[in-house]
Amino acid sequence: MSDADKTFVIVGAGHAAGQAVQSLRLFGFEGKIVLIGDEPYLPYQRPPLSKAFLSGDVGIDRVEFKPPEFYTEGEANVDVHLNTRATAIDRQAKTVTTDAGDVVAYDKLLLTTGSRVRRLDFLPGADLGGIYYLRTIDDVEAIKTRFGSGKKAVIVGAGYIGLEVAAVCAKHGLDVTVLEMEERVMARVTAPLLSDFYHRVHTEEGVKIEYGVKVVGFEGEGDVARVLTEQGQNFDADLVVVGIGILPNVELAQEAGLACDNGIVVNETGQTGDPDIFSAGDCTNHPNDLLGHRLRLESVHNALEQAKACASAMLGKPKPYHQIPWFWSDQYDLKLQIAGLSQGYDQLVVRGNPDEGRSFAAFYLKDGVLIAVDAVNAAPEFLMSKKLIAQKARVAPEKLEDTSIPMKEMASNA
Ligand code: FAD
Repeated sequence: MSDADKTFVIVGAGHAAGQAVQSLRLFGFEGKIVLIGDEPYLPYQRPPLSKAFLSGDVGIDRVEFKPPEFYTEGEANVDVHLNTRATAIDRQAKTVTTDAGDVVAYDKLLLTTGSRVRRLDFLPGADLGGIYYLRTIDDVEAIKTRFGSGKKAVIVGAGYIGLEVAAVCAKHGLDVTVLEMEERVMARVTAPLLSDFYHRVHTEEGVKIEYGVKVVGFEGEGDVARVLTEQGQNFDADLVVVGIGILPNVELAQEAGLACDNGIVVNETGQTGDPDIFSAGDCTNHPNDLLGHRLRLESVHNALEQAKACASAMLGKPKPYHQIPWFWSDQYDLKLQIAGLSQGYDQLVVRGNPDEGRSFAAFYLKDGVLIAVDAVNAAPEFLMSKKLIAQKARVAPEKLEDTSIPMKEMASNA
């Protein structure tokens, strides 16, 4: 059978799916592409949801992955099924069943089911109005209806998303309190130095941050009015946004008998244990030779690059995907760019002065090797570090911290 007679089905219409459609056509696939997504939208970008789209600085057209005509009018020519959930995969028959009652046959199947938010539904009062999570365009539209100067916003969780929402709420004149179980912000992903810096910035913007606080319930009549904590302190709220992490959507794969372990288990080309089923994005547990271990990542870069690798492999041209992870977070005027993973570092080197300026970089070293960077308004530090991390470069700490030595000279000095 030639490729032109084949059908590739993609389940999940998010970032990875949008990239997979684009790459399959770019790499010359002439067969049929079926895209099945349970949201009412074509693939869109989630990062602006907690940033410029939440703040109202950009509209919905600026979050689309591609304009609608890309999918329908010739260029990609995709058979799109929105508002449709894939409910089962029959690996013997090579079909996907949907909640619309369709049974769709595939030659190759790509699972880009992404992730979903962790919820606090088990807490008393969790069904009150005004309590939100942030994963979709619809979530943002609902949150925005509660905005209003002087209204009290309580954000549960001081990770990237919680802090980005706090920054937008503060900018809109809301009275913002962030509740965090740990003793510092972004504790899971950054060094204390970064946490201290971001604590100070948020405090200067009027955001209150409470640490060591566990939310145990919500009170109100119809709408939330108070957030209750184990520590006995209650916080008045007109709006609550919960940002306490995500869970990978693996159930469809799991029920089809595919191996899952904190993500759908795939090899370096995105292939699962079934040679005709691939997976990309937030939902995968994949190997990374540069890091030397398997991992699951929640990042746009991963979704895009793994989708490209899958598209290539689905066309019989496997190209292993091994790249240094990178992420970003926008809060106020600060662009934080992160490359590598800092877990296990034994030395922190700081370039610039976080106490005095709003541009600096924190380098994480392990046994003298650069493994990660957190760069705040410091693009050259981020870009050069990405290369050095991939090279497993040893860079003398005294050079890294010397701002008189341009970053581009670090490689030659390594
Ligand atoms: P998703 O984008 O989650 O898409 C998966 C889609 O599949 C969803 O629409 C889901 O509903 C659908 N689906 C699931 N199961 C089924 C089924 N059975 N049938 C049909 N459809 C199904 N990353 C960064 O790198 N930088 C950032 O600044 C950043 N900011 C973020 C801010 C927010 C508010 C959020 C929510 C995420 C952010 N991320 C950021 C993470 C990034 O958006 C994700 O890593 C990326 O969207 C992952 O893409 P994906 O295609 O794997 O999954």
